[in-house]
This record gives sequence, C-alpha cells and structure tokens, in this order.
Amino acid sequence: MTITPIIGLEVHIELKTKSKMFCGCDAQHFHAQPNTHTCPVCLGLPGALPVPNKTACEWTIKLGLALGCSINEETFFERKNYFYPDLAKGYQITQLQKPFAINGHLTIDGHDIRINRAHQEEDTGKSIHVGDETLLDFNRSGVPLVEIVSEPDITSAGEAKIYLNKIQQIVRYLGVSDADIEKGSMRCEPTVNLYVDGKYYTPLVEIKNVASLTGVMNAINFEIDRQTKQFESDHVEKNSTNKTTRGWDADKNQTFLQREKEGSADYRYFPEPDIPPIVFTKDQIETIRATLPELPDQKIAKYKSLNLSDFDANLLAEDLVFSSIFDKVLNGSTDPEYAKFITNLLIGPLKTISLDIKKIKPDYFQKLFSRRSDLSSTIIKQLILESYQSDTDPLEIAKAKNLFQVSDTGAIEELAKQVITDNPKAVNDYKKNPLSIGFLVGQLMKVSGGSANPQLAKQLLEKLLS
Ligand SMILES: [Zn+2]
Repeated sequence: MTITPIIGLEVHIELKTKSKMFCGCDAQHFHAQPNTHTCPVCLGLPGALPVPNKTACEWTIKLGLALGCSINEETFFERKNYFYPDLAKGYQITQLQKPFAINGHLTIDGHDIRINRAHQEEDTGKSIHVGDETLLDFNRSGVPLVEIVSEPDITSAGEAKIYLNKIQQIVRYLGVSDADIEKGSMRCEPTVNLYVDGKYYTPLVEIKNVASLTGVMNAINFEIDRQTKQFESDHVEKNSTNKTTRGWDADKNQTFLQREKEGSADYRYFPEPDIPPIVFTKDQIETIRATLPELPDQKIAKYKSLNLSDFDANLLAEDLVFSSIFDKVLNGSTDPEYAKFITNLLIGPLKTISLDIKKIKPDYFQKLFSRRSDLSSTIIKQLILESYQSDTDPLEIAKAKNLFQVSDTGAIEELAKQVITDNPKAVNDYKKNPLSIGFLVGQLMKVSGGSANPQLAKQLLEKLLS
C-alpha cells in the first residue's frame, strides 16, 4: 500500500490594527477587562452599521502581495450565517466569492505550495467556561482577521511546520501581526486526507482547536495514522468526498469527531448588504506593493550570494530586526570575508543580548575587521560586545586594556627565553613528547598578559628548543 498524505492549511492571522474591523473599538483584546472594548456594532445590536477598517484592508492586500497573490481590484464582503453564543450578530462578515487576494504561492525547499486565497474577515468573541457556566467576552468580537488558505500541496507534518514558520516570518516582516500561535493571534486548521495506491482518497478531515505548532504536527501525524488504519480495516475500495470536522485534544494527543458532512451551503452565504463593494485601483495596489520590505527569501538569496552558508543565511534572515542590523553593518560591502566576520559576531556574542539597531555602529565592526590579525578571535568577540554596551570605539578599549597581540618577534623571543628558563620540567617533558608544547605556550601567553600572538609564540618556542 502506498500512501501519500494530502495536507492543506487554513491559517488565521489577527491583524494588529488600532481599531476593530468594522467599528472604532480598540482591537487590543489581550489582558483587557472583559467586555470593555465593545460598542453596538461589535455587539451586533440591531440597527448598528459596520464601516470597514481601511488599514486592515490595505494590510490584507499587502500580505496577499507578499504571498505572491493576484489582487482583486473589486471585492465585497459576505455574511456567513451560523449560530454560536460568541457570535453576536448570528453571522460573521467574511469573503467567499471574491477575496482580496488569490492564487499565490510559497516556496519550501524548492517545492511550491500554492495559496488559494487570502481573505478578510472578523474574529468572534470568546466563550470562557467556568464550572457549569459559560461566560462571554466580546472584546475580540470584530477584530480583523486574514484567512490564508493553501491548496493541499503539503505532504508531511514537517513540511506543514516549515510552511507555518514561513507564513509567520512573512507576517512579522510586514509588521501586520505578531502572529503568536500560543497567544492565538495566529491559528491553524489543517485539512488531511490520504491518496492510497494512486487511486483512492480517504475522506477529508478538517482539524480544529490546534493551539501550538507542535500540536499541528501531532494532529497531522495522528490523522495520517488514523486514516491509514481506517482504510485498512474497511477493506473496501472507496472514494469519498465527504468532509468531517474533528477536534484536537492536546492532552490525549488525538483527534475526535465533531461534525460530519458540512459544506458552504450550510452557512447560507450572501453578500453583506450594509457594506458596498470595496475598490482598490491598480495604482493604489502598486502603492501598497511599494511598501513591501525585502522579504525573507530575498534576504536569504542575498546572503547566500555573499558566500554565507545556508545555516548562516537562514539565521540572519530569521527576523526583520536582526537582518536589518546585519544589512546596516554590512553597509553595501560585497566582501565575503567581511560578511562572514560580521555574521560570526552577530550570531555569536551579540545574539545573547537584545540589540537596538539605532545603537549599532558599523564602523566599530569595520575597525575590528581591519585589525583582526592583531586581535584573537576571543578578544574580538569580547570587544564588540563591550563596545556596543559602552558605546566606545573597540580599538580604544583594546588599546587601553593592552589587548593587541604582540607580533614583535624580538619581544616574544625574550619572553620565550624567560619561560624556558623558568620551566625546566616542562622543557624536559617537551623533549620526550613534542605535543606538550601547549603548556609552554600557555605560560608564555600568561607572562605576556594574553597579548602575544599564540602562533608566533609557539613557533619561537619550538625554534629555541630545537
Ligand atoms: Zn465595537
């Protein structure tokens, strides 16, 4: 039996606009006193009229462009009707027929994952279960969301994780959301089914309530396993197009059946009569495109063209601030040696502290680079950290602390002679075993206060002892 998992992902991104999607309420709902960020619109009171948030629409277009999508110049909103206590109006305003963005793609390890759409909608309120009671908080009701729907081009849990990380990275680069899965500002719903022996499809399952990246991977793997066993035990050749919804129980590490056979017809979608169609002209869309920053893939390609490894390039491009610091320090240089030098400092000592790009001085890096043969690599790491923290020229620090390596042969030779005189036992050891030279080099470094060039020290000791 050959099995190919077919995985799609629906990702919800909560936009961090100041106000909500269709009213002026504060959209920041985390840690707010319940039901304080509400008004007649987001409480769904009769007669209240929604007014779309322009920034949210622009950000959805921006995100669509970053995902390689085509943008519909004219779009409209629709009502998705269902009843749930935390859905104040009895419907959600969303987009079905004409989303802002369609037909995009993301490339993962050279493999294209097609993106069907990115559409605009609003979040629901929150149900909070306390004992036998359910409390409702409408602070989140009406917060802008973008839903990004992939085609089922993902074939493993690992690939799903890379895809999600990439979406998260792009969203953060754009600054339109903090895309925090644990906090709930990024949510994922995988759809999973299997293609068996090149002819059968198992029924499609959509998984809800996954609240972490690990959860997404575990839920996908669980479903692959469950559907495989189901297919084997049914012993019938079947092709099903039914879609079922299963919940994810993170404690039991398994999915459970929630609803069977549900289609978009059940939601009685129809155009939102209170909001006219939204139009963005070609020029307006191009103006938004012009605000796109250099995206992670472009950054990675640029870094690799500087001869940096895959590992280094990915680490530098991980977040926008970090890569902007690298770009600022690089300052247009195309010297691979300099690029590697900065990389080692940034992903080494500087990675351990939080950096403020405004306080980064590219010339400190350049100065250290120009004197790199006179300073040990340990000292250089120490100097870049200290110069950043004290905003002092690293070479001044090196001078004041006498950290430059002495490469003056005469001076080191004097020290070498002294070390040989002072350590007769170690000299004897060396004559029996040349590998023990390390001890004498160590002694020389010590008497030089760490300033001797260790290579030169070793050569001179060997010369004197031969
Ligand atoms: Zn409101």
